[in-house]
Amino acid sequence: MSFRKTYFHRISTVFLLLYLSTALFFALSCPADELRVYYISVGQGDAQYIELPNGENVLIDGGPSSTDSTSNPLIFFLERKGVSKINHVILSHAHLDHYNGLSPVFDRYLVEKYYDSFITGSSTAETFRNKAKNRSQETVNTLSLPNGATFYWCTTSTPPVTAILLHRGDAFGATPSQNDASLVFKVAFGSSTFIFGGDAGAGGSYKPLESWLANVNNHGAVLQSDCYKVHHHGSSSSSSDVFLNALKPKYAFIGTNGMSHGHPTTAAMDRIDVWTGAAAVDNSFSQEIKGKFYHD
Ligand SMILES: [Zn+2]
Repeated sequence: MSFRKTYFHRISTVFLLLYLSTALFFALSCPADELRVYYISVGQGDAQYIELPNGENVLIDGGPSSTDSTSNPLIFFLERKGVSKINHVILSHAHLDHYNGLSPVFDRYLVEKYYDSFITGSSTAETFRNKAKNRSQETVNTLSLPNGATFYWCTTSTPPVTAILLHRGDAFGATPSQNDASLVFKVAFGSSTFIFGGDAGAGGSYKPLESWLANVNNHGAVLQSDCYKVHHHGSSSSSSDVFLNALKPKYAFIGTNGMSHGHPTTAAMDRIDVWTGAAAVDNSFSQEIKGKFYHD
């Protein structure tokens, strides 16, 4: 445990994915078990991939490209990994920059479980969701679960890997905007913690999902996570102080191409920097040392 803590405190920065060719990952290990979390560079969108200690895997979102070839950065990544099956696929919300890249994933790979709130999106999103439902072995409608539901993704490792559903999709009613319906998961491997929340917002033209997360049902205490997949690509109306004060992130990862929508914004970066240190694009982590960031 102390080994992991050492590395958490040694590096403190923000990682922009736009300059990186494929992915950054963060590997955390006990003597026999390792969890690897990859933040894949897919352009203006999000995709994260988790290798569990038992060899199973998780894919959260798929980025914007629906191309079924290795010109799609997500397919390129999965092919290089030699993936043939994905145990858990999560769609944070039904916007194209998150679901489009999952379409070829369902064409190519066996998918065991698909997680989605199924809150109505666009007609193309619904077409994708029908495909996902048909091609996965099991679907998990998060609206059938309570907020706070815990998934035990790996119980054979020391420690186990858990995923807590902090927002199931409907904190702001049955028909929220897709960003306001973003599923929020906290993944924990002992004291190593990660949060994934799609394009959750903090107000302005969106609902205050971030303050809901920080305040409701004592989530503030549950929320704290070292690694933050930055909400909504670093938009000005996300990554609020109330949320960051509860999250207390040490590392932040932003999925953006740096051109669309002006993401990330200086306002969000300044708020995140308070926790992670000065913003930096750092592509120097290539050492094979467990507990550090890697290029892949
Ligand atoms: Zn997005």
